[in-house]
Amino acid sequence: MVATILVGMLCAHLLCFSAMFFLIGRRLHGSKMGMDLFATGNLMLGLAYALQSAEGGPAWSLMSVIGHTLTLAAPVAYWLGAMRFFGRSVPFWRPLLAVAGAYIAVQVLVQWGFGSVARYALLSAMMALLFLAMTATVIYGVLTFARDLYGEMIFFAVLISGICILNAIKFVNIVGTGLDALRMSGGFQIVFYVYMSFLATVLPPAIVWLVLRRLTDELRNVAARDPLTKLLNRRGLTEALQRHFSFRKAEPAFLVMVDVDHFKRINDNHGHQAGDQALCRVADVLRTHVRGSDLTVRTGGEEFAVICMNADAREVAHLAERLRSAIENTAIFVDGVDGPLHCTATIGISRAFTGEDALESAMKEADAALYQGKGAGRNRVEMWEAVRRDVPASMSDPQASW
Ligand code: GH3
Ligand code: MG
Ligand code: MG
Repeated sequence: MVATILVGMLCAHLLCFSAMFFLIGRRLHGSKMGMDLFATGNLMLGLAYALQSAEGGPAWSLMSVIGHTLTLAAPVAYWLGAMRFFGRSVPFWRPLLAVAGAYIAVQVLVQWGFGSVARYALLSAMMALLFLAMTATVIYGVLTFARDLYGEMIFFAVLISGICILNAIKFVNIVGTGLDALRMSGGFQIVFYVYMSFLATVLPPAIVWLVLRRLTDELRNVAARDPLTKLLNRRGLTEALQRHFSFRKAEPAFLVMVDVDHFKRINDNHGHQAGDQALCRVADVLRTHVRGSDLTVRTGGEEFAVICMNADAREVAHLAERLRSAIENTAIFVDGVDGPLHCTATIGISRAFTGEDALESAMKEADAALYQGKGAGRNRVEMWEAVRRDVPASMSDPQASW
């Protein structure tokens, strides 16, 4: 009786959360993050338990064959849904129908060759293996593609390995005592369905939490990055600086402002689209030449900034010279233009600053140094200190100047 009530509740949970996943998937236009597949998995498992309840007990019938097939296909749907959640474009209906068709054929053969006990034992063994594979995939994910979701993935691995163990025990019980092991009044069956009800209650909110995390991370990323170059924008820079300076032992930072020389000419001569591609290429050059701890920002138009953390003035000057030289030596290929374009940049460096509230004054300093560099002929690096002393200091020969 208890197990029968549990199966009924389990069925209701699965079907309700199936509807919820379906609705969430519909709201997520384009990438549904696997929600439609989770909805299908829940629907199949819910229907399988409904068929099991309607049947009353183990039997060889069309309903039972369909029930077993739906039970087996559900974790396949979950697995494919998880792949989609992590951005893999895996097919769905074809592999699912292939699994379902193959399992119907296997069930007929096993029933015909070995009887009902073997068919029920087979389902438990297959479920144990599938959930074992899912646990292994989740652990692999923790180590590779889902490192940012470490806590959540471990939580999933523990819960899924529980179903794997329970199905393995069920398999052993069926092999040992036959179909008696499936009596709903049996102690193990109650434990099994209590655990399944627990999972059906806990897992869906956990999946919704994952979707929420992904969406908020994406939103934050969109708000913090420039859409053209994917570098940080001003807002992203302010947030990153706040994080950096929130550490008590944070080192001072330097602002290196990079302005592409005569960029207007690229637009005028080759069109705005070619200009956009050139800006992306300059952004790539900056990205590849800064150090891991630096922040690379597009502050606007053809102006970029690099925030150098944990460096002294001399190291910053060398980095700036490296950037200047890399931009000068990069051949920029853009669509519709024969041969490469070349551009140069003038770079201004602020004094060291120690808080995000000093960003504005660091910008002014770097800007003044940059202005000095433009006046002195462009394609140069200037430091605020030198500008203030009114001594133009070109970094084209960094060894000589610093
Ligand atoms: P200078 O050496 O003095 O910096 O000269 P400049 O031509 O680079 O500077 P100016 O400020 O005169 O012109 C900047 C140009 O950058 C003008 C504007 O059309 C172009 N620009 C700004 N944002 C974008 C963008 O997103 N895409 C493209 N293609 N061009 C842009
Ligand atoms: Mg410019
Ligand atoms: Mg400019």
